[in-house]
Amino acid sequence: MTSTKSSVEPVTTKVKIYTRSEHNISRRQISDNALKVLYKLQKEGYDAYLVGGCVRDLLLGREPKDFDVVTNAEPEDIKKVFRNCRLIGRRFRLAHVHFGREVIEVATFRGAGEAKNDEQVLNKEGRLLRDNVYGTIEEDVWRRDFTVNALYYNIKDFSVVDYVGGMADHKAATLRLIGDPETRFREDPVRMLRAVRFAVKLGFNLHPDCEAAMHQVAELLSRIPSARLYDETLKLFMFGYALQTFEMLRHYGLFQVLFPSTENCLSLEENGFPRLLLAKALANSDNRITDGKTVTAYFLFSAFLWESVQLLAQQKMRKGAIEFLAYQEAANEIISKQVKSTALPRHITLAMREVWSLQPKFNARYGSKPSRLITHPRFRAGYDFLLLRAETGGADSEIAEWWGKYQVADDNEQRKMTQPPRKGTNSKPARKRNYRGKAKVSPAGTEA
Ligand code: ATP
Ligand code: MG
Repeated sequence: MTSTKSSVEPVTTKVKIYTRSEHNISRRQISDNALKVLYKLQKEGYDAYLVGGCVRDLLLGREPKDFDVVTNAEPEDIKKVFRNCRLIGRRFRLAHVHFGREVIEVATFRGAGEAKNDEQVLNKEGRLLRDNVYGTIEEDVWRRDFTVNALYYNIKDFSVVDYVGGMADHKAATLRLIGDPETRFREDPVRMLRAVRFAVKLGFNLHPDCEAAMHQVAELLSRIPSARLYDETLKLFMFGYALQTFEMLRHYGLFQVLFPSTENCLSLEENGFPRLLLAKALANSDNRITDGKTVTAYFLFSAFLWESVQLLAQQKMRKGAIEFLAYQEAANEIISKQVKSTALPRHITLAMREVWSLQPKFNARYGSKPSRLITHPRFRAGYDFLLLRAETGGADSEIAEWWGKYQVADDNEQRKMTQPPRKGTNSKPARKRNYRGKAKVSPAGTEA
């Protein structure tokens, strides 16, 4: 067990109210729809607060990802107040108030009292399976994860209400769990992923108690349903801090739970190569986000699993399998294993297979094959993946350059580029190389 000395315990008398003049949150920074929800609840006689990430981000002067509202109105009451409202969730019952594309999530204060019937359910490892006991703000605060996520912005007087010293932690840029860290991680191991995500995104430090508990119980993450882990994985890697997140997840032993076969490959690192492709893919993806470009989940997942697929395919080829089948079988096996950890949807795994299967086809540069390949719906992603491999020593950069030119060439030039060399000229365009000093077993090793 880790020390609980510095953990925050429920002492409601310690509440501190920061008046409007003592904090920097202005209504101008709050979405109009969130304000509408807050005012409407207040008008109907309910308490209404903003809570969680939006308060934390507003205090940092950042634009929040979304606005979460919390109230003493119960879900059925919330539904009566808003026409555009849907109740969702079983584990946590919530109201979603819809305004076109914006959704304001409205939760009822969670209670801390004894659960009646099956409103609150813990499994034998201490994990919360259901949590629908309602309560007061003083109870709700202890159900939240980090102190900086437990600050309440009160629409009544525009103050910030702090029961757990969240404001001080916010100023000190510290992520501290509310309560005993190990117990809180056991209740919901996904909080470990949240810890990493917030630490990276906000540039905050994890409190040493939180870190120590994470080392203790990292493995419990594997008990979380794969569908939830898939959702969390997207939040971890698709928002511009993928490379740092990857490093930190590895540090705490969490990455191996999300991507077990990738972790195995990383420990088999050869001249730094397997790791380079993934790290480069993550860095590229972060740069794209910084530049305001989109990133696709399937491309990142292709990068996460590529080295595992390669290694397995090579093993199969050593046992006599032909290259095409070896790669196909390896992709099937690696994907089947991966979906047990993170439930990748089918459209993602299909796209990944396409990106992978395009790789050997880039070697065919004569005749009509290139003109057909370029019309493939995944050509762009496949080519970007080829570039990534070339940049990290896993493919011939000459081939990648050739495809770069071919794409932008006019018809005439394209025809010239795809002419087979005349006999005796000895001008082979595709050299057979052993990248990374390996045997010629990469799928890019098949010449046209
Ligand atoms: P983001 O910027 O990603 O939206 P967030 O902190 O708002 O960060 P949400 O998932 O939107 O995260 O959750 C809103 C709030 O609900 C959190 O700030 C926290 O107070 C509480 N919360 C969410 N998930 C958990 C959890 N697993 N355990 C405890 N509290 C949680
Ligand atoms: Mg949020």
